Amino acid sequence: MQLSIIVPAYNEEGNIRKIYEAIVKTIKTITYETIFVDDGSSDNTSKELDKIYKLDKTRVRVITFSRNFGKDAAIYAGLEYANGTYTAIIDADMQQNPKYILTMYDFLENNPDYDQVAMTIKKRKHIPFLKKVGGTLFYKLINLLSNTKFKQNASDFRMFRQNVRDAILSLKETNRFSKGITSWIGFKTMYLDYDVESRFSGTTKFNFKKSLDYAIEGITDYSDKPLRLAFTLGVILVILSNIYLIYFIIKSLIIGKILSKYMLVVALIILIGGIQLIFIGIIGKYLFKAFIETKNRPIYIIKRKYGIKK
Ligand code: UDP
Ligand code: MG
Repeated sequence: MQLSIIVPAYNEEGNIRKIYEAIVKTIKTITYETIFVDDGSSDNTSKELDKIYKLDKTRVRVITFSRNFGKDAAIYAGLEYANGTYTAIIDADMQQNPKYILTMYDFLENNPDYDQVAMTIKKRKHIPFLKKVGGTLFYKLINLLSNTKFKQNASDFRMFRQNVRDAILSLKETNRFSKGITSWIGFKTMYLDYDVESRFSGTTKFNFKKSLDYAIEGITDYSDKPLRLAFTLGVILVILSNIYLIYFIIKSLIIGKILSKYMLVVALIILIGGIQLIFIGIIGKYLFKAFIETKNRPIYIIKRKYGIKK
């Protein structure tokens, strides 16, 4: 099997047949399987999948979740069952034209030094204004805060070799932020542009709230800088209050009486506040370490092995 195509689908009854046919029409010369993952849909997605499975048992695979676990979980399930030399991920809603699967395939075939191709949205004309602005802000913020670098407009629409598939599968965390995972694992990735199209049927599954949750998830998953902020602020406050206290003591000694009781109290409150912030920052540091450890990520990821058995 040369290629596995993973299609996560949540309430996509109107699109299943369309995307299936588009894939069949486009991919003629490659042996492939299409793995549909029904992410706990409440509409007729499951029925539609039954139909195309009966039609094309050799190439269609169907996994149905017991409830909605989210797109990243659906992709993970697809990866677990993918058998192809290459694996591609494509949305069910026809926003991503399957013709680019061939583009990605050709690229990987002709460039053995690359492990992955990711499609990035060229013109975001079919995307609502708010989503565009939100997206830009999100990438600015997460790249400012995180050590892992995130490529703007890179989608889940991508294709990779088995080494990348195994690497993604080796990250077993439940809170899966796919944009972070694909950056974190490394590998040589080619970014190609594509024109995003309109959704064929239905509406987006990522409304404002879900997108915001996703952004917060991403930032807290990949950055401890918000936690370190407490520490930095604490240090600044302690330094400032100490400078003032020293000035206060010297001045009081010179004039022979306490400068201002009121200001003394204020300075001491700021000092204590600063010390508290420093310790909150320290606790945060330990918390983040524990958080990273609980993800139980692999210590390294192998790109290639020569002459090594096991
Ligand atoms: N999706 C999913 N589970 C979810 C939400 C979305 O499997 O909980 C799928 C959805 O069916 C589609 C893809 O992920 O195939 C992208 O979703 P959508 O088109 O709604 O996102 P957008 O293109 O608007 O960012
Ligand atoms: Mg879409």
